[in-house]
Amino acid sequence: MSLRTRIYIVILLLSGLGYQASGIAKTFSLQDSLRRYQPGKSYTFQVESAIGEHAIAIEYIAGDAGSKLILTSPHGGDLKPEFMHTRTKDFVVSGSDLDYGDTESFSAMADSKTLELTLALAEEIRKVTGLRPHVVLNHLHRSKLDANRAMSLAAQGDENAIAAWKAFHQYIEDAKVQVAKNGSGLVLNIHGNAHRPQRTEVGLLLSGKDFLSGDLEKLADQSSVRALVRSGKASMKELATGDTALGTLLNEGGFTATPSKAYPNPIDANDFPDRRYFNGGYNTARHGSRFSGNISAIQLEFNQDVRMNDRSRNNYAKSIARAVTAFMNRYFK
Ligand SMILES: [Zn+2]
Repeated sequence: MSLRTRIYIVILLLSGLGYQASGIAKTFSLQDSLRRYQPGKSYTFQVESAIGEHAIAIEYIAGDAGSKLILTSPHGGDLKPEFMHTRTKDFVVSGSDLDYGDTESFSAMADSKTLELTLALAEEIRKVTGLRPHVVLNHLHRSKLDANRAMSLAAQGDENAIAAWKAFHQYIEDAKVQVAKNGSGLVLNIHGNAHRPQRTEVGLLLSGKDFLSGDLEKLADQSSVRALVRSGKASMKELATGDTALGTLLNEGGFTATPSKAYPNPIDANDFPDRRYFNGGYNTARHGSRFSGNISAIQLEFNQDVRMNDRSRNNYAKSIARAVTAFMNRYFK
């Protein structure tokens, strides 16, 4: 057992950390939970070993009733309980749970400091708007749970990982129920990439090749912001590369973000010779409006300079909060 895990467990046993445990490990049910979510309060789901060791795996910090925004951090956790299976690249996916597209590549690399970035962003959004967004965090390291994959590859059969995966998505679903009361909303999935040159990638479920085709409108139905286009609030092109696209608003805050007005093609060989682009994964497909509903989703992949430095991260979070708030005011008022 690592020292960190040991400390976590001891703290949990002694004090409960002030958290309210909302589930018992290996089962997850929030049937009546909606009634008792209080804005600003933290709810957690713990994993548990056969001899009673605990660790906080998933955390939901409830947003204010008027908020239309949900922030998630699926890959920012660093907890590695030794009683959980360590994921391997050799695992054979069952193939029965690929409902939300082909997002089945294996990785056990964490998106370092994105959990901290997500919390900083939530706080800055509260300062700017007066409303706390909903926040859902996976505290487990990606080698224990990949909370941005279908269940089979995400958990690789580990009972605790399966329960934590269910808890992660149930908390998002519960947040979406609250947001939906306000008419519409947005899920932002916060990630980190290591592409060079460094840039922030905005994932709308359109592929890099889609941006070469020129006609984005035909592709709106496969995007994670489909509901915004369908409602007549914006064209697909406007949402991807227009004046008030999220990428463009981030550029105005000093980020190199793509797609955007300045960088309309995320695989442009001149701007980005590696031509790598993360266009959105399982969560963006499942929790956005590609398949159903009025709540859209965007994956934000921040480069290392934005997230790694403990001193500068909060300033970046301020700039991201301004861009996100401008986007929300434009499309979710
Ligand atoms: Zn990630």
